[in-house]
Amino acid sequence: MTKPAVLITGASTGIGATYADRFARRGHDLVLVARDAARLDALASKLRGETGVAVDVLPADLTNLDQMTVVEARLRDDDRIGILINNAGAGLGGSFVDQPTEAVDRLIALNITSVARLASAVAPRLAARGDGAIINISSAVGLVPEYGMTVYGATKAFVLFLSQGLALELGPKGVYVQAVLPAATRTELWGRAGADEASLPPMMEVGEMVDAALAGYDSREGVTIPPLHDGELWDTFQTARRSMLPGFGEIHPAPRYAA
Ligand code: NAP
Repeated sequence: MTKPAVLITGASTGIGATYADRFARRGHDLVLVARDAARLDALASKLRGETGVAVDVLPADLTNLDQMTVVEARLRDDDRIGILINNAGAGLGGSFVDQPTEAVDRLIALNITSVARLASAVAPRLAARGDGAIINISSAVGLVPEYGMTVYGATKAFVLFLSQGLALELGPKGVYVQAVLPAATRTELWGRAGADEASLPPMMEVGEMVDAALAGYDSREGVTIPPLHDGELWDTFQTARRSMLPGFGEIHPAPRYAA
């Protein structure tokens, strides 16, 4: 059986380029999306030469609606594509009061809007045919307001929630949805976000991170957190969250809010 093609956003470098390498070596054709066409072309010809798979390049700025629409159309119409990797994303340096509103808006357009729109473009087709996968790259930062990367973390919390919700809806229809939550990983992201080289935390190497995420993918794990050694902590967290659900059905406020 032919393996499904994989459309990867943010494939010109970092985590996305590493996913491209790994899926090419697994024999999947690729569609690579990012803004830098020259870098995409270079990666595409390298992977074609090394693995023999077909690699298409689809340059697009995912914060530009016209360019986004072209990627959406590809996801809607190209039946060879069975896996979407929603990876393109960026960080934003500084504290909230120092971040320009336009920069906050641009970050949301890339990290939230593009992720939701591309999932929305592909999900109906995958659900109708009853297979395929959506991999969404969230971040451990989305679980940790204490890190102070407030807007970035909020965008990644959105990606986690979106993935969990989509997994509940699409899983029974045969479509696998995975949220991947890397923590600090050595890529260009930090420099692009204006991080001071001297203050960078210890980092995981990108190849190790993606290989761990793919182990989670292969076992059809819903939420994959490569740096979390004690995986039971995540299960405990989910159990605690679900234990609140009955309370959300109460029709009177809790006694602590009595006037
Ligand atoms: P990266 O090395 O900076 O790569 C980001 C990728 O996104 C590049 O291919 C970039 O390519 C593309 N991109 C950026 N803006 C875009 C736009 N407007 N339209 C289309 N593509 C765009 O970062 P990375 O670390 O690999 O990050 C990948 C994902 O992992 C992100 O979602 C990030 O939030 C997440 N993550 C990273 C870390 C980490 O520590 N590195 C940790 C947790 C989560 P062009 O510049 O060519 O467009």
